[in-house]
Amino acid sequence: MIKISTTSEFQNKDVKNEAAVSPEATDIWKKFLDLLAQSLKEMEIETWFSILKPKAYENNTLTLLVPSKDYYSIIERRFNTQIGKIIDSGLLGEDGRLIYEVEEPAAEEEVKATSPAVHDIQKPYTKPENKINTKDREFKEPFNSNLYSKFYFENFVRGESNELAVAVAYAITQNPGNLYNPFFIYGGVGIGKTHLIQSIGNEIVKNYPDKRVYYTTAPDFTTQFTSSIAKDRVDFSSGVLGTKKLDAFYKSLDVLILDDVQNLAGKQGTQDFIYQIFNTLYNNRKHIIFSCDKPISQIKDIEERLVSRFKCGMIADIQPPSWEMRVAIIKKKLEELDAVFPEDVIHYIASNVKDSIRTIESCISGILTESKFLFKNRIDIDIAEKTIVRTVGTSRRQKNISIENIIYTVAQYYNVSENGILSKKRTKEVAFARQVAMYLAKEMTNLTLESIGLNFGGKDHATVLYSHNTIRQILKKDSNLQNQIKDIKEQINTL
Ligand code: ADP
Ligand code: MG
Repeated sequence: MIKISTTSEFQNKDVKNEAAVSPEATDIWKKFLDLLAQSLKEMEIETWFSILKPKAYENNTLTLLVPSKDYYSIIERRFNTQIGKIIDSGLLGEDGRLIYEVEEPAAEEEVKATSPAVHDIQKPYTKPENKINTKDREFKEPFNSNLYSKFYFENFVRGESNELAVAVAYAITQNPGNLYNPFFIYGGVGIGKTHLIQSIGNEIVKNYPDKRVYYTTAPDFTTQFTSSIAKDRVDFSSGVLGTKKLDAFYKSLDVLILDDVQNLAGKQGTQDFIYQIFNTLYNNRKHIIFSCDKPISQIKDIEERLVSRFKCGMIADIQPPSWEMRVAIIKKKLEELDAVFPEDVIHYIASNVKDSIRTIESCISGILTESKFLFKNRIDIDIAEKTIVRTVGTSRRQKNISIENIIYTVAQYYNVSENGILSKKRTKEVAFARQVAMYLAKEMTNLTLESIGLNFGGKDHATVLYSHNTIRQILKKDSNLQNQIKDIKEQINTL
């Protein structure tokens, strides 16, 4: 048994969710979630906590079911403080405890109703079908999975922004059809959704060569569907109706990966079709993986009954990468291209291209091309700047932003002395101002961690990194600090 804190722990046994959940457990868990909502964003609760199930509440001990031990570890690591506070507040009673147990999926679980669809004229949920009749399998080997071979786990850089998504994705490849089904992954544009879900496909094909894994995008799926309807209309002679053939194909899959489901919006017919396919696959314990460019709560124009399918399994997000992760990604991409950039250029790109990894890739190849054709393979910040300005529109060339200016502005803003920031003083105000200044130095200049440390009176790079991380974590939740940083940045930029 692993003990994480004195108040919450993990029971190292797999359990079947056989017993009915007590109303007390449900009730106390609801209260727990309400309290969590005071310190976490709705999205965080939806992403991380909605999958946990209360099992029992007895003797001031709440038992929760988690999908896996990995999942539990991530939750505890990320939210230990918030969870600990609620337990300390006495919600669970005196010496209240939280215990996690791994849930084993029920053997023949059917899709469960979450909300009945208004326009559902059929029975809302299909019965589990018998094994797919082999004669329906129109598509015999060789089977084209439609996967790109360039996307795999080994070349996918992991970091805080994607750790849950990667952990779940990898777990799926070890046991497709069981845990985390369906898997819904969401995140902004160009930050690795396609790469990750294709990696799942490639890994499953590698581990289980007989499994029929198929990747498609919602637009391609829609096109296939609409042209199959057209075929239904014209192709009376063939005896095999287009939609029927398509239906049999999709229902014969072991793993369906459907990318960019936001594009199903407004396409009622396609949604109905995918809904039927989903139910069949799911009831036959086949794995379904969806990606979307927005969280489920923001999906529009997709029928509720389909949306309820998106959320009936596991949901994970990918957030924009941090600065460190951008640096790691740039290095990985350079390694793949067999190219070398000076460290300051790598930091410069990481500081200026923030949201999309796809854009980072275009900048790297732009810089390489420019350098090859115009600068005899020289690579420096001047060349990088040109490409970045062309690609992202602007580039913050940090010519005027010096560490001195940052320290000066931060000291003024928080009313502490510049010398204090440079010293080792640990009074609360000074230490905080120093962390903010270090954070800004890393965000706003191209300097390495080492040289930022040196400029702060000889601190080491680990101190700078630690300060940067601390402020970044606070910024995620604290809108006051967000405003302060915005103000300070504005002042620095106008110096
Ligand atoms: P999305 O589907 O979210 O729009 P993609 O998966 O197409 O984004 O990613 C865009 C590009 O960025 C791809 O070439 C992909 O290889 C790369 N990429 C994204 N995330 C990572 C990562 N964590 N590590 C390495 N490359 C990544
Ligand atoms: Mg994509």
